[in-house]
Amino acid sequence: MLNFGRRQDVGYENEKVQNLTTMNIPTSILISVGSALLTVLAFMCIRTLVIVGGAAVYVGKSKRAAERRVYRRDFAHGQFRSELLAGAVVLLFDAATIVAVRYLGWIQPASFTLQNFLMTFAIAFVWYEIWFYATHRLMHTKPLYFIHAQHHVAKVTHPLTAMSFSLAERTVLNTGALGFVIVASHFLPVALEGYGLYFLFNYVLNVLGHTNVELLPKSFVKSSFGKVFITPTYHAMHHARYAGHYGLFTQVLDHAFKTRWQDYPEVHARAADGRGLTSMSERIETAPEK
Ligand SMILES: [Zn+2]
Ligand SMILES: [Zn+2]
Repeated sequence: MLNFGRRQDVGYENEKVQNLTTMNIPTSILISVGSALLTVLAFMCIRTLVIVGGAAVYVGKSKRAAERRVYRRDFAHGQFRSELLAGAVVLLFDAATIVAVRYLGWIQPASFTLQNFLMTFAIAFVWYEIWFYATHRLMHTKPLYFIHAQHHVAKVTHPLTAMSFSLAERTVLNTGALGFVIVASHFLPVALEGYGLYFLFNYVLNVLGHTNVELLPKSFVKSSFGKVFITPTYHAMHHARYAGHYGLFTQVLDHAFKTRWQDYPEVHARAADGRGLTSMSERIETAPEK
C-alpha cells in the first residue's frame, strides 16, 4: 500500500515537472523573442528618427534645400499621412523579419576579418543592385504595378518616401536582402558586420535619393564617378515620370537596358542651378548622341 502510495506521489511530481517544463519553454522563448523584437525595433526607430527625421527637417527648413529642389511642385494631398502609415508598418515588418531569421538560425555567419568584411560589403552591393533593378522593373509592368503603387504615391519625393512600401513590395525587397545573406552564408565567408554596414549605407543613400534636393554640383554628372552613381535628381525623375531610371544606386543597368532618360544631365544642371522643373511632363531638349 505504502509503495503504491509513493509511486502515486512520484507520478504526480513527474506530471508537475512535465507541466512546468511545457509551460516554461514557450514563456522563455516568448520573452526572449519579445525582448529581441523590442531591441531591434528601438534601434530602427532611432535610426529612422535620426536619418529620415534629419533629412525631413533639412528639406523643410533649409534655404539651400528650397533653392535646389529638383521638382518645384507641391506634395500630393494626403501624401505624408499615407507614407507615415506605410513607413510604420514597414518598420514593424522589418523588425519582425530580422528577429524571425535570427531565431530560425538560417544565417551561418563567418568570423570577422577585414577580407570577409570587405567582400561581404562588395557582394551585397552588387547583388542588391541586380535584385532591385530586376524586381523594380517587373513591378512597373501592368499586372504587378499594384505591388509598387504605394511607393509612387509620391510624384514629388520626400525623405518619408524612402520607407513607403506596401507589405508585398517590402517582402520582395527583404527576400532579396535576407535571401542573399542566408544562401551566401552557406557558401561564402559572410561577415555580418559587412552586411550590416551595407544596409546602413543603403538606408542613408535611399533617404538622400528621395530628398528631391540636388546638392551635387553640375560637374559631378560629367565625372566618371557621376556616370556610374546616381543622384537625387536621377531618382526624382523616376517618380515624376513613372518610368525609366529603375536602378538603385548606380546607372549601370539602366545604361545596359536603355532605361536611362537622355535629359538627365540637363535636369540635374537645372536643379543644381536653382532652376528646378515646374512640370512633371517637362522634357529638356538634348543634343543627339554622337
Ligand atoms: Zn518605381
Ligand atoms: Zn523611390
